[in-house]
This record gives sequence, structure tokens and C-alpha cells, in this order.
Amino acid sequence: MASLGRHIIVEYYNCSPELLNDVVHIEKSMENAAEEAGATIINSTFHHFSPYGVSGVVVIQESHLAIHTWPEYGYASVDLFTCGDTVNPWVSYQMLKDSFQAGHGSAVELKRGEMALLKRKNFDVKAMRDEKSSEDGDPIRTRDVWFTERDDKIALSLKHDGKLYDVQSDYQRVEVYNTQAYGNMLTLDGMVMTTEKDEYVYHEMITHVPLLTHPDPKRVLIIGGGDGGTAREVLKHENLEEVVMVEIDDKVIEASKMHLPTIAQSLDHPKLNLIIDDGIKYVNDAADGSFDLVIVDSTDPVGPAEGLFTVDFYKEVHRILSADGLMITQSESPRFNSKVFKEIYQTYRGIFGQDNVHCYLAHIPTYPTGMWSFSYSSKGSANPMNLKPTEEVDAFVKANRLRYYNADLHKAAFALPNFVKEMIG
Ligand code: SAM
Repeated sequence: MASLGRHIIVEYYNCSPELLNDVVHIEKSMENAAEEAGATIINSTFHHFSPYGVSGVVVIQESHLAIHTWPEYGYASVDLFTCGDTVNPWVSYQMLKDSFQAGHGSAVELKRGEMALLKRKNFDVKAMRDEKSSEDGDPIRTRDVWFTERDDKIALSLKHDGKLYDVQSDYQRVEVYNTQAYGNMLTLDGMVMTTEKDEYVYHEMITHVPLLTHPDPKRVLIIGGGDGGTAREVLKHENLEEVVMVEIDDKVIEASKMHLPTIAQSLDHPKLNLIIDDGIKYVNDAADGSFDLVIVDSTDPVGPAEGLFTVDFYKEVHRILSADGLMITQSESPRFNSKVFKEIYQTYRGIFGQDNVHCYLAHIPTYPTGMWSFSYSSKGSANPMNLKPTEEVDAFVKANRLRYYNADLHKAAFALPNFVKEMIG
């Protein structure tokens, strides 16, 4: 390698002024141009100037691509900077020229950091990392990186010290980050699944609400839940005879056992029948009335979980529930995925009956908007307000040192804000 980096300085002329002022188009074009060239995108940030013009950068594993546009001249200046030999920045040059409908472009390539002129310094990060900072004794942070989960309008960013696990499984990208504010965090396909610091909210609410209102639960089925948090809470109910958990992706379980031990602690529990399989297939093959409670602890309706958000699947869940059976699902955020949220309740009411489907809310800081919902669908007499006697609930909460759930909060969670009531009618 004669030089540390390649820097292509690009000028695009006679471009479409509209495209050079379309920040969404420019960001997508720059990201596609990076990936097509073989780069791995880490993060990107773009700014739309007033009254016009865009500036932005895509940070890639192999350095960066940057752009500034002058729509009023149909002109854009671009820097394509790459390290190593795995990325061909000229692929990006041509893709962007087409994407901005440039009349013509010119480019010059510079070698940056000629090795002949460089001498390696004595720079040992590991030694630095082990050094304790004088002020607060915390380890010196040698990496300060932002993880960002975002859709086209909303984003959540968390600072982290690096990735502890990163595997592309047969179903999804499984990653674990060591975040500074929320401890270790599991993400699937770039979406936050659970963090050590706020997981108890989700896991206590998706489990104790149904298990402390069902008349006599004996057999529980968990669909998904690969991090193990739902199983951990379910298994705190000692009166249960069997808990079956069907998780499609063994890499999620591996990552959680390795890096989220407090969440995954019950995945080897003797009462847990852990099955690696597609939950849809398992439910289709299960016998009528064979479960008192089915908890669908799935990801969002994408990838392997898409089929878990279908009428057919819910009808099958209804079939395998016992007479007083309950189905509990994470039902997304009323604010973040309003369309899916509304559809979910319409569908459930079509299967379980208008008055047998209830919604309850919880505050999960690392989920989009922080407001998350759960659905409570009853096949028989079970009702969310038929909570066990308060002293019994209080004793359970105390004995298990629950950190979010309690009897008052249980009732409050079903008291919905007006805008949510309007959404689900
Ligand atoms: N609390 C998280 C949330 O609300 O987004 C979900 C956590 S849990 C990790 C979700 C699990 O569902 C993942 O491990 C994923 O692999 C699993 N999953 C997705 N589709 C599935 C399917 N068809 N059958 C079984 N498990 C599935």
C-alpha cells in the first residue's frame, strides 16, 4: 500500500437544481454510492441549508464521502476518501454523476499519506484504555461512537464504547453495543431490542400483567423473546407447569448469553422448553387449547417477524389457547407506528371480540418515542382488571424485587390517553 488513502476530488456540473436541493435524494444517493463501491456505512449526517443547498457526510468503515451543493448553479463538489484496497471510489463517482443528472463531471485522484513520508509512532490504545483517568477513576474512553436508530423522521442516538458482538445470522444482523448510558444493548437489523438499563420495563409488563390476571395459568408459550428477558419473568411464577419458548434465531440467544447475562439468566432453566424454530410453524402444529397464555415477544413486522403480524397467525394463536386463554403481544408505539398499531387492534377485535381486547402502555426510554404498547386479548373470562388480591400482588412484587410493575401501575397502564383511545376506538 503506497499510501494510507485515496482522495478523489470531484466536480459535477449542469446537474438538476431540484435534485441538488433534495436532501433525502442526496443522502440516499451518497449512501448507495458508498455501498455499491464496497464500503460499510457507519453513520451519515446531512444538513439542508436555507434557502437552498445541502452539505453532508457519510462516514464509512473505510473513511468518508462528503458533498456540498449549489443548486442555483447546478453544481456539486464531492470528496470521495477511502482507506485500504477493498473500496473502489470510482464506482461512487459514476453513480453520483448519474444520480444528480450531471451534464459533466471532472475528478482528480490524490494519494493521501504517502507511506514513504510516514514513520509509525509508539501509540498503544490498549495501554491508554487500561490507564485510569485521574479525575473520576473511570477508564479513559478510547472510543466515543454514536449508535443511531432512525427512520425517515425520527432518530434515537446512544453513545457507546464499541461493539461486543456482530453476526449476520440467517435471519438478521445481530449486534451488541456497550453503551455508556444504558449498558450493553442488543440490536437486530439496527433496531434496539433491549438494553441492560431499561429492559425490566418491557419484560415485567409483557409477563406479570397477564400472569396476575389469568384465573389459573399452567402452560405458557413465548414466541420470540431470544434475549431471554420474557422467559426470566415468566419463570418467576412458580405455579406454572411448563414454559415453552420458540425463538427462530439461535444467534440472538448466543449474543444474549454472552453479553446480556442478567437478561438471559433463565434460558437454561429446567422448566423452560427452549425450541429454535419459526414460531409460526410451531403454532400451526400445536394442538387446540394447549396453552393458557401465548406471549408474542417479537421484533417489528419486518423480516422473520412479518408473519407474526398476520390474521392467520392470530387465528391460530386463538385456536391453541385454552378456554380462558390470553394472548399478549408487543403492539408497537401508538406514536411511532400508528398505522400498524391501529391495524393490530382492529385485527385482534375481529378474532377475540370487540370487548375482549385491551391496550396498555409503558415507558421504555430506548424505544422510539419512549411510549410503547402491549395488547391483552382474552379468549374467555380473563380480564385485565381482575387482578389478584393486592396483598398477593405486593408480596410477589417484593419477593421478586420488581423494578417497574406493581398493582397500581397495572391498573394505570390501561388508562389510555384520549388520542390512543381515538386510534383504537
Ligand atoms: N423487545 C423487542 C421488541 O419489542 O422489539 C423484541 C425482543 S426479542 C429479541 C424478538 C425476537 O423475535 C428476536 O430474537 C427474533 O429473532 C424473534 N423472532 C422474529 N421472528 C420470529 C419468528 N417468526 N419465530 C420466532 N421468533 C422470531
